[in-house]
Amino acid sequence: MEKRSKRVTHADRVFDYLQSQDRPMSAYDILEGLRDDGVTASTTVYRALEKLTEVGKVHRIESLNAWTVCCGGHDGKTPVFAICDDCGIVTEHVDDDFADSIAGLSQRTGFAPNHSVLELHGRCSDCSTSVPSH
Ligand SMILES: [Zn+2]
Ligand SMILES: [Zn+2]
Repeated sequence: MEKRSKRVTHADRVFDYLQSQDRPMSAYDILEGLRDDGVTASTTVYRALEKLTEVGKVHRIESLNAWTVCCGGHDGKTPVFAICDDCGIVTEHVDDDFADSIAGLSQRTGFAPNHSVLELHGRCSDCSTSVPSH
């Protein structure tokens, strides 16, 4: 029998890699980054990402087609992603009012969402305060 504690799965590798990056990564970036660790097929990466997304450890940033590590538990509430178009940093926020709005809309219309995404594009506070050099 294998020892349970020491077995590193591809999902673990993908998660560790994402965590070590400060930007969301595309599946291709992840594949390139993990090639030396024995991850050589994009299907492996996609399968790992699917698994991690399912358990809520990573999120897909739909508008970037990239993945980022979840900031932590948000009890199934919809996270809001603020995406800086200048430096590419993505910040995850959880907004209770927004979650309530969706719940309210669902109640009024009878529509039952199982997945919602809110991605804000713009400039992060660092980029909007720095003076453009041109
Ligand atoms: Zn999250
Ligand atoms: Zn920025």
